[in-house]
Amino acid sequence: MLRSLQLPRAATARSAFKQSSLPSVIAPRLRRSYATESEEKDLVIIGGGVAGYVAAIKAGQEGLKVTCIEKRGTLGGTCLNVGCIPSKALLNNSHLYHQILHDTKNRGIEVGDVKINLEQLMKSKDTAVSGLTKGVEFLFKKNNVEYIKGTASFAGEHEITVNLTEGGEKTVVGKNIIIATGSEATPFPGLEIDEKRIITSTGAIALTKVPESMVVIGGGIIGLEMGSVWSRLGSKVTVVEFLGQIGGPGMDAEVAKAAQKVLKKQGIDFKLSTKVMGGDASGEKVKLQVEAAKGGKEETLDADVVLVAIGRRPYTAGLGLENIGLETDDKGRLVIDSEYRTKIPHIRVIGDCTFGPMLAHKAEEEGVAVVEYIKKGYGHVNYGAIPSVMYTHPEVAWVGQNEQEVKASGVKYKVGNFPFTANSRAKTNLDTEGFVKIIADAETDRILGVHIIGASAGELIAEGTLAIEYGASSEDVGRTSHAHPTLSEAFKEAAMATYGKAIHF
Ligand SMILES: Cc1cc2nc3c(=O)[nH]c(=O)nc-3n(C[C@H](O)[C@H](O)[C@H](O)COP(=O)(O)OP(=O)(O)OC[C@H]3O[C@@H](n4cnc5c(N)ncnc54)[C@H](O)[C@@H]3O)c2cc1C
Repeated sequence: MLRSLQLPRAATARSAFKQSSLPSVIAPRLRRSYATESEEKDLVIIGGGVAGYVAAIKAGQEGLKVTCIEKRGTLGGTCLNVGCIPSKALLNNSHLYHQILHDTKNRGIEVGDVKINLEQLMKSKDTAVSGLTKGVEFLFKKNNVEYIKGTASFAGEHEITVNLTEGGEKTVVGKNIIIATGSEATPFPGLEIDEKRIITSTGAIALTKVPESMVVIGGGIIGLEMGSVWSRLGSKVTVVEFLGQIGGPGMDAEVAKAAQKVLKKQGIDFKLSTKVMGGDASGEKVKLQVEAAKGGKEETLDADVVLVAIGRRPYTAGLGLENIGLETDDKGRLVIDSEYRTKIPHIRVIGDCTFGPMLAHKAEEEGVAVVEYIKKGYGHVNYGAIPSVMYTHPEVAWVGQNEQEVKASGVKYKVGNFPFTANSRAKTNLDTEGFVKIIADAETDRILGVHIIGASAGELIAEGTLAIEYGASSEDVGRTSHAHPTLSEAFKEAAMATYGKAIHF
């Protein structure tokens, strides 16, 4: 709207909004009685997800006058509301249920009738979510962050119009602006999402009944986590994956194979190298036509529920990017430089709606770094040391390069492996599935990648991340004392196996 006025970049909204200078077609709209404008802020953040809320808190701590605009009604974005947190609550409790059903007798624990109360299971998930989202609101207050509930769109390069959730409009003006609008599930062409029978992860964390059968389209992390939840609760789950391995291309092939074997043992069926051609939800069951990725005989899969988990795409709809001449690339990402600046330097972008892995902790790192760039001119995120975790049981976690990537790079490397069957804590826990695999440069011994499948892999990977961040060699890790008996000793032993020999295997 303001773009048509061709404001110079430095013009403030105050001067821009002088009604007398507006063309008559625009003026009546701006004269709507409930529109208000606010003082200029040092920083305005669009999106209160992990990227946005962390940046807001950091900005408050740095003494910046900061406003965060969020349209969802609660803070925390995808991660806290419909992503990391609710999915982990369901993973944790469904694992407990599964363990009580199948893994207590041999431990000397005898239990009676075990039943699932789905309503209560969902309630306990909701309690975790609301506790955490309210916690972020508290942190906003503590750090003097102004929180505006509403939908933001650019009116100019410094002006943002907010459609307030409670009704009315407000103009917010920022010297600096951060876009942190996140991502959304990528739809599957031809399958209409209703979040009941054809669902995304958002529907998968809120089903009101355990479906008899579920087909998951996409064998990546989200698909396998949600598939695990419903399989443990009693659904017959089939995962259809276009690639020849599960876990996505980032997962080490050896680990992916091991993970698939364990998940298969738990009752999940896999159709790899298979593509979904189309679906029909008109009957009692949803019918999916699938065929071999390279072409072949068609097959029809019947399911009560189909989970579409083929990935996520950046979300920038309704932001009014066209009003300020910002464009997205062919994948929908906002283009930025190494300091998160768009081509309009005071507008920066972080989190899922720009480059890099769509992970909450990556978004969080960027939230801190971007404020440091604004305030001090420097910041730090090491994109080579961002861990990934799949919270199935066993968990799968990795950081750095996988073996296929190192091989393709032509670097000479060595590998050390240590199985949890040889780890004393895993043995005492009767939970010995999996191994630790370390890849190091053959000449320098510097660790290039760490890959773990096993209970608590998501916790253990922190040590691998620190090792890579500090440029550690496998010998550095192998010569570091690790408490006994802990699963982390498997990490030490894998490091020892990389530069020499493990003791216990
Ligand atoms: C099921 C699931 C499980 C996941 N599990 C994990 C996990 O275990 N670990 C992990 O690291 N990551 C996980 N993720 C990914 C993680 O949730 C995202 O990477 C993270 O939320 C990205 O943060 P963000 O702030 O960039 O975006 P988001 O969290 O998506 O936040 C963006 C916010 O911007 C708001 N917004 C958008 N447009 C506007 C507008 N115009 N005006 C105002 N507000 C707006 C949205 O409402 C949203 O709240 C998971 C995701 C899903 C879906």
